[in-house]
Amino acid sequence: MLKRKVTTERKTPVKGTPEKKVQETVCSSCGKKRQYSNKSKKLCAVCVKKIQATKAKEKKAKVREKKRLSVSALTKKLDQIYSVYIRLVYTTADGMCECFTCGQKLHWRKIQNGHFQSRRFMSTRFHDHNCAPQCYACNIGLSGNQYIYGVKLDEKFGPGTAQSMVTLSRQITKFTAEDLIHLIDEIEGKVERLRKSKNIWD
Ligand SMILES: [Zn+2]
Ligand SMILES: [Zn+2]
Repeated sequence: MLKRKVTTERKTPVKGTPEKKVQETVCSSCGKKRQYSNKSKKLCAVCVKKIQATKAKEKKAKVREKKRLSVSALTKKLDQIYSVYIRLVYTTADGMCECFTCGQKLHWRKIQNGHFQSRRFMSTRFHDHNCAPQCYACNIGLSGNQYIYGVKLDEKFGPGTAQSMVTLSRQITKFTAEDLIHLIDEIEGKVERLRKSKNIWD
């Protein structure tokens, strides 16, 4: 900001300020003849307030960004642990796991957690009736092999399961960081118990 030269002196004091003669000062930010509110930075009260407001805004934006990042990072973490959980549910003691839609047998580490309704639907993303182990060919190649998936869901969990997952998936669910932390904790406990009961430690 330009520093203006003080050429004139204020004759009448500003309303509310004391009568005594005030030394003329120029704000280093707005260039107006005003008393300094921050003497070391040569800022008027208006500019000090403005700067404070900007800083507060930035701080708020940072907090918001941090929260958003932590939710996405926690969702990723939950995806990982939930995938281990689902695969272990279907794994036999020899460490093998069958693809839910084609029946191919694979080592549980080599199979994926396939979603019946897309992962983008948060209300079914971590639902036991919407997730099952799938081979790469079914999960990626056939985009989930959805028709067969639905048929198999009804066979395993009862008629209407597939439809109920479709309906539930369309409900808007938003997880907070606290929700996700709680879920991660819960699923980690389940994984621990499954590993013990099936004696699977790889
Ligand atoms: Zn100013
Ligand atoms: Zn398959």
